[in-house]
Amino acid sequence: MAVTIKSAKEIELMREAGRLLEIVHDEMGSIIKPGVSTMEINECGDRVIRKLGCVPNFLNYGGFPASICVSVNEEVVHGVPRRDHILKEGDIVSLDAGLIYKGYHSDAARTHAVGKVSEDVQRLLDATKQSFFEGIKMARPGNHLYDISNAIDAYISGFGYGIVQDLVGHGIGTSLHEDPQIPNFRQKKKGMKLIPGMTLAVEPMINMGTWKVVWLEDEWTVVTRDHKPSAHYENTILITDGEPEILTLHI
Ligand code: MG
Repeated sequence: MAVTIKSAKEIELMREAGRLLEIVHDEMGSIIKPGVSTMEINECGDRVIRKLGCVPNFLNYGGFPASICVSVNEEVVHGVPRRDHILKEGDIVSLDAGLIYKGYHSDAARTHAVGKVSEDVQRLLDATKQSFFEGIKMARPGNHLYDISNAIDAYISGFGYGIVQDLVGHGIGTSLHEDPQIPNFRQKKKGMKLIPGMTLAVEPMINMGTWKVVWLEDEWTVVTRDHKPSAHYENTILITDGEPEILTLHI
């Protein structure tokens, strides 16, 4: 699929899709505490998406059985929510959510601490989030796509963490996954030139230990091979004439 450049009208719809998704994340984030099941978080996200008049884009995507991906500790992404998976103090939980507003998709992920987490784990959460911001400093016209990848890699390498390679960021628009793919690890090539009107989901997935991951038997849940924790941070962004605009986060 070709890379799409959004018109001014489309950008307005993407902005609204992003703004509404931030509300969904805020609501889900507010219920996280020890004792809550991963299914309850999914139900909260699904309810808010529909209350906002939108459609959850992950539900049934490739057969995914829920609206929100809820991944705990060593689960990297695509965790399937379960009634019997109960969060406990010291866990981390990654919530990946997306919605469709008037035909336009948004996609964002946050990793939350459940109660108090160890210093090591907090450092992983902070570094993963910051790596997104380091990456998008490069997301401006005149630069190339892999400048984003290389900036994420350069920042994370200082921590000795593993960067997931099997899953990458992506273009987004009238489809959840559009070209281009956006790796979070160092690339030898430059990649395509960045052009105003591109909308991209930039989403570093960072492991405390090895970068290697495996798929569980449910064929969805991706876990770290060494069972050490993993964090995920994602926003949908817009390439503009200058600084990138983050569509799913308004500080
Ligand atoms: Mg994504």
